[in-house]
Amino acid sequence: MSQLFTVKPAFGESALILLTVTKSLIHGHFVLRSKDHADEYVNARKLFANPERFWRMCRLFAFCVDPSAPIDTVVGPARGGNDLAKGVAYWLSQLRFPSPKKDPDDSPIRCAWTDKVGKDDFAVAECHEEFVRGKRILLVDDVSTKGGSLEKVKRSVQKVGGEVVLALTIWNRGGVTPGKLGIPIGSLITKEIPSWPPDQCPLCKDGVPINTDVGHGKEFLENKRMQNRETSIPVGATDWSF
Ligand SMILES: [Zn+2]
Repeated sequence: MSQLFTVKPAFGESALILLTVTKSLIHGHFVLRSKDHADEYVNARKLFANPERFWRMCRLFAFCVDPSAPIDTVVGPARGGNDLAKGVAYWLSQLRFPSPKKDPDDSPIRCAWTDKVGKDDFAVAECHEEFVRGKRILLVDDVSTKGGSLEKVKRSVQKVGGEVVLALTIWNRGGVTPGKLGIPIGSLITKEIPSWPPDQCPLCKDGVPINTDVGHGKEFLENKRMQNRETSIPVGATDWSF
């Protein structure tokens, strides 16, 4: 099979510019989806809120995909991944079938939504299952640290009979590899941003306040508060005659 994708250095540079001008790349003390802590964070929601820049990012994704790569549908993890899937599907269609005479209702590349299931999983939306069942799927995501979301979306696609052929992300920050994911993966930017388990985080040790606006900082602090409360209950306190 020919190469499914090529990420030229210029694509990575453009992606970094888009993240920078939309203030999506920020510094501080963050809790990631993987529960690890980091001093740099890619807040893709800022990019998603800027349609012009977001559309350009989707176009970069489409440029990376080989024109002969077998793709019917694009899928990403809810919520942001749904937007990304829509934009990438649009640009793939435009690049592969540029004729202005084509019927826009017969877009050759589709996108399918996923829904969040429980706290930490995804499922292909029932209304879009028909675009996944028996189809060849391109997975897209904004930032991958350990590949957990991509892995879960891959499983949700397979559950309804789709075949995942490739995954593309804006930023691969933790070294997610095809071996880990079981499919080829490409990223516009491949740069490791150091992250640490909470008990080894140097920022926690230095008492740097955790950002609660983005990422999972709020949840982390809430859990910590609960744990502290539990450990401060004196022995015997469950005996109400105490
Ligand atoms: Zn920390």
